[in-house]
Amino acid sequence: MAQINQEKCVGCKICMTYCTVDAISYSDKKCHIDQDECVECYICLRQKVCPKAAIEPSPLDTFYKEFKHLMSDPVENHPVTGVTGRGTEEVKTNDVSGRVRRGQVGICIDMGRPGMGVYLRDAEKVAMALCNAGVKLATADQSPLMGLMPDISTGKLNEDCLDTRMLSVIVEGHCREEQLKDVMAALQKVEKEIDTVFSLGLILRVDENGENATLRCLDELGIAQPYRGKVNVGLGLPLITD
Ligand code: SF4
Ligand code: SF4
Repeated sequence: MAQINQEKCVGCKICMTYCTVDAISYSDKKCHIDQDECVECYICLRQKVCPKAAIEPSPLDTFYKEFKHLMSDPVENHPVTGVTGRGTEEVKTNDVSGRVRRGQVGICIDMGRPGMGVYLRDAEKVAMALCNAGVKLATADQSPLMGLMPDISTGKLNEDCLDTRMLSVIVEGHCREEQLKDVMAALQKVEKEIDTVFSLGLILRVDENGENATLRCLDELGIAQPYRGKVNVGLGLPLITD
């Protein structure tokens, strides 16, 4: 946990400009970190932004404080995935991991951003909307957020985590190609019910012309082009062909 030593703080406000989610406020000539708003990203600590060394770490003494830190600090390796960040590497190298098979569409929703963050209650809304539209969420050993779900077939999170604020989280899973239109419609509906932003990644196989007819449903739903594409090649491992 990051906290400001009030004895050392001189109220210069430099730290406020570095906080990723606006969790530092100024009053009584000192700065203070709101512990509920802080996402434990440790940017203020790691970058040593305070000229008086007044920003100090203190123990991550609850499960959710540690969870926030592991998910929000870009240099921390998450024990579940073994990689930095909130999601997994495997879906980005699908040509060798084969997590998303032919006839399926991988869904990867990146919620929250620096400056905004995301409350887990909003992540739950998105996860539940996906499940209701037919998405099978990734398992808890594939993606950290699912470890907070007693039953991943529902998308519902543990009640005691809903007010937890994170820098960002990833909700991921997959559906069949023919379900994509329903899934997109569900996301268009739920985006109006949440207090943050998200970006959507679709992982699917394309033909020799770089196309997949499943994507036509985006035009039908009025989801504006251009769409940006990304190809990550999993070099050094056998290609998954099915
Ligand atoms: S940068 Fe340091 S001294 Fe300046 S307001 Fe922040 S904590 Fe206080
Ligand atoms: S740890 Fe991150 S969120 Fe918390 S006060 Fe520092 S910069 Fe802000």
